[in-house]
Amino acid sequence: MKVVVIGCTHAGTSAVLSAAALHRDARITVYERNDNIAFPSCGIALNIAGTAKDLRSMFYSTPEALEKLGAVVKIRHDVAAVDFGARMIKTGNMVNGEVTYDTYDKLIIATGSWPVMPKIENSGLKNILICKNYDHAREIASKAESAKKAAVIGAGPVGVELAEAFQARGMEVILIDQEKHILPRHFDAPFAQEAMKLLTRKGVHLAMGERACSFKGDLNGRVSAITTDWGDHETSIAVLCAGSRPDTGLFKGKLDMLENGAIKADEYMHVSVPDVFVAGDAAAVWNNALKAHDYVPLAANAVRMGMIAARNLKSNTTKYPGTQSTSVIRICGLNLASTGLTEESAARAGIGALAVSFTDGHRPEFMPQEEVTARLVYEGGSRRLLGGQIMSKADVVLAINTISACIQKGMTIDELAFADFFFHPYFSKPQDFLNRAASLALPPL
Ligand SMILES: Cc1cc2nc3c(=O)[nH]c(=O)nc-3n(C[C@H](O)[C@H](O)[C@H](O)COP(=O)(O)OP(=O)(O)OC[C@H]3O[C@@H](n4cnc5c(N)ncnc54)[C@H](O)[C@@H]3O)c2cc1C
Repeated sequence: MKVVVIGCTHAGTSAVLSAAALHRDARITVYERNDNIAFPSCGIALNIAGTAKDLRSMFYSTPEALEKLGAVVKIRHDVAAVDFGARMIKTGNMVNGEVTYDTYDKLIIATGSWPVMPKIENSGLKNILICKNYDHAREIASKAESAKKAAVIGAGPVGVELAEAFQARGMEVILIDQEKHILPRHFDAPFAQEAMKLLTRKGVHLAMGERACSFKGDLNGRVSAITTDWGDHETSIAVLCAGSRPDTGLFKGKLDMLENGAIKADEYMHVSVPDVFVAGDAAAVWNNALKAHDYVPLAANAVRMGMIAARNLKSNTTKYPGTQSTSVIRICGLNLASTGLTEESAARAGIGALAVSFTDGHRPEFMPQEEVTARLVYEGGSRRLLGGQIMSKADVVLAINTISACIQKGMTIDELAFADFFFHPYFSKPQDFLNRAASLALPPL
């Protein structure tokens, strides 16, 4: 069985590892544009902040490691075209320009995503950067060596982490977003505002509700300021963090996709043509909270999908269970976790949602305590859990995975109120904070 994998970061690497382990007769060839594989973007801000010192130590696999498993790894190769009828791909060697063709019995598309380029005038100036792969990481780190001021455009998780990281290096930072609060897809306003207070206290200048319109440059063609609908902000570097979109242009018009280009798959990760699978940020996913296809570019999803695609290469063995878009971020020492829908995102999706919030110490009063706040979002009529948010300086964020699993299984908020959770004074109170939060939604007797 000849297996071709396009793209080798999270989804591609996990697909290759699983396919090599599961299918002895698999002859696997991987094509990857970069000169490296398996770089975790999540390490970039940690490197800028100085927490993770060495970018090169972050790769969690290498072409050599995959080759030891029997795969052929072609780095610096761009897959330029796929002929699904002939089961053939056309690739370009990015070093010597040589064009070659290869065939497949099974194809796994793991081409991932690319940063959204917001429409801001003069984005071609020097020192306007994007943040995705190893090369970007090196460039940002090198520019941050000498830059005194940074502007980060986009206050999603990538932008927020970068802004805090620049500040930790002693740079003057402005974080700009047209939304009213940071992390608008992940948290309702009360949670986001807590994190915003901490960022502001630390010295990050927050420009929420401002739309970036254009950049200004100096005589050397380097960015010197960003102009928003509120005015000018001087800066020496700017990083565009406006989200990501599927890198699937190659397949446009050939495969079923969502409007943004995310490739639709069935629950076994098959796309709309035979013997082709998709995994990772290139794919549309089933969102169990929304009960619809959605775009949720997350590494954990990518790894799972890569494994599942590999398991299904020969026959349908393993279903993709969908996602709740579960994620965690740590901002100025505050841990914030979210899963499913926020009250705001449920409203945007036209779902009649209600929410309860609960704040308490995370363990008994006789122990040192931190405050924990949990917010649960549920559907008005069915009482089905739709989402959850947790924040605390204590390390309690793993509880978000519990809420995620509850949503995946279609549990109601009433069931969560009495779900069986442990108690130990080192970790919790006799009634777990998730039970207590859910209890607030119980109807009166
Ligand atoms: C700064 C940052 C921080 C993040 N932090 C987190 C986090 O903490 N937790 C989390 O869950 N997620 C995080 N994410 C999201 C996560 O990185 C992505 O979900 C993940 O990288 C998706 O993996 P993937 O393999 O599907 O796609 P990608 O990582 O996009 O990889 C796709 C690969 O395919 C290659 N490729 C594309 N087209 C071709 C072609 N035609 N020919 C050859 N090769 C091709 C690309 O070069 C690339 O290497 C973060 C993202 C960013 C940008």
